[in-house]
Amino acid sequence: MKVLRLPKERLDLFASVLQQFGEVHAPVEQNGKYAFRALSRWSDARLDYPRTILPPKKYFVPPKDTLFQYKEGLGYVPADLAADRRIILFGLHSCDIYGLNILDQVFSGKYDDPYYQARRKNVAIIGVDCIPDEHCFCHSMRADFVDKGFDLFFQDLGDRYLVMVGTALGDDMVLATGSLFEPVTPEDLAEYKQRSSAKRKAFKLHVEIRDLPEIFELEYDSSLWKQVGDRCLSCGACSMVCPTCYCFDVADDVDLGARSGSRSRTWDSCLFSTHAMVAGGENFREGRASRVKFRYYHKQRGFVAEYGRPSCVGCGRCISACPVNIDISQVISQLRGIENATA
Ligand code: SF4
Ligand code: SF4
Repeated sequence: MKVLRLPKERLDLFASVLQQFGEVHAPVEQNGKYAFRALSRWSDARLDYPRTILPPKKYFVPPKDTLFQYKEGLGYVPADLAADRRIILFGLHSCDIYGLNILDQVFSGKYDDPYYQARRKNVAIIGVDCIPDEHCFCHSMRADFVDKGFDLFFQDLGDRYLVMVGTALGDDMVLATGSLFEPVTPEDLAEYKQRSSAKRKAFKLHVEIRDLPEIFELEYDSSLWKQVGDRCLSCGACSMVCPTCYCFDVADDVDLGARSGSRSRTWDSCLFSTHAMVAGGENFREGRASRVKFRYYHKQRGFVAEYGRPSCVGCGRCISACPVNIDISQVISQLRGIENATA
């Protein structure tokens, strides 16, 4: 992998060059929260953000996605995916890039999803490193470092960045700047290693995932699921903000007169009371405890069996979004029988 350095005072110039590759989006601050948005000016970008409200999955699996329309006389009119604009998504943390790599496995592996894949091709990814806060446990989920899934990745070294070039497109971006980027020096590498070590020590939250699928197997009937279910409001916020939750519902909107309409998919959540309801009125997960349990088992056990790793990347969004403070790290600790943990 090619590695370069970029003095920080040249970042503005690099950002202006990026516009020839597409519309630049980055985290911006709104009332103390952060969201990925199209930038009207580069100075709005906040690369020192803790986490965005919604993860970058909104660019690839939008909250509401029209799959096709149908019109009398025209038949089916497919979504014009080629018309989606080219976007440069600047400022993703490692855990969110890892989340996209997991979505790639879901939407580009056993099942090919042309909507997801077309958008993935149209969006370039530029990562930045971060400092963990009280809700982050990405190191426990092995998602605090990525070696693929980005075009460029910026590691903060104080007055300069160490820049990893991940793809040919990333290389094109670097080459388009002329001589803005420089070769790395031994001092850069020493600084990178020192900061990398300091970051590992900065995590306050730790989740032990070794043998977790086996613990889940053994604790299937634990009373903990009822305790957590009794507190859960079934609001679905934890699923909406999760970078790797991908359940969706498909519904037709038929116009009055039934001569035209559209089919869309919208984000769904396994925490919603009707998620497992089927024709005839049967609901396979009617109780809240069974729905909470399902979400944990899918992420920490079922996904491991299917894809070889948990689908949680430890971003902490579900912890900060839950209105009743249900904390995934504490639920796992309690399941392990670690004393003084409260879910
Ligand atoms: S389960 Fe929670 S911590 Fe894990 S990836 Fe989803 S939102 Fe992040
Ligand atoms: S955010 Fe909290 S209350 Fe809402 S569904 Fe998830 S666990 Fe339940």
